[in-house]
Amino acid sequence: MSANVTELSRISALAEAHHARLVAVSKTKPSEDILAIYNANHKIFGENYVQELVEKQGILPKDIQWHFIGHLQTNKVKYIAPFISMIHSVDDLRLLKEINKQAARCHRTIDCLLQIHIATEETKFGMDENELVHLLKEVMVHPENYHQIRLCGLMGMATNTQDQELIKKEFQTLKALFGKVREKYVAHPPHFKELSMGMSSDYLIALEEGSTLLRIGSLLFGKRNN
Ligand SMILES: *Cc1c(COP(=O)(O)O)cnc(C)c1O
Repeated sequence: MSANVTELSRISALAEAHHARLVAVSKTKPSEDILAIYNANHKIFGENYVQELVEKQGILPKDIQWHFIGHLQTNKVKYIAPFISMIHSVDDLRLLKEINKQAARCHRTIDCLLQIHIATEETKFGMDENELVHLLKEVMVHPENYHQIRLCGLMGMATNTQDQELIKKEFQTLKALFGKVREKYVAHPPHFKELSMGMSSDYLIALEEGSTLLRIGSLLFGKRNN
């Protein structure tokens, strides 16, 4: 077992001091490790893979708040819609529509973040500013198609680099975009309050730049093999 409860307390306290919350990213890690963190009074966990998440949700305590943070395929939304607390990785309208449809079938409202591409790596997912504005305008013009969705903010992943200045700039870009669209293109600005940014390697910079949701895996659970 490799869950680091000391790190959990340290990072949670730091997050709280910055008015941010911590998502413990447990992808690929066994349920015992998740329970160790849960038993240290932590309830928010993040997963990347639908099948793995559904299996874990079935056997772990029902008061865990599961956040989906990986790339989500439209045809898999139905499996997580009954229980998911927040989806961080919405990057197109088709996906948002499907989440709305599946949420309606479950009589739920699902909190969603819109993923923005801020890194230099092309392999990372997310929308650019134009795509984001297009999506938000569509939601404003046809709110009836999105009644079961609560748009709660933006998510981004910085470049995987040692260059702290570059990471800082990328987080600042995300925060600036957040402020801009929130004023102009969001129907319910009070709900639109989350900035999901910061992982094990860059969470200190993210907190300084205004993150409200840290997504931290390896510092809590140890290195992953894949
Ligand atoms: C895996 C993952 C994380 C956590 O990464 P660590 O470096 O282990 O903290 C955060 N966000 C996303 C989107 C991830 O896929």
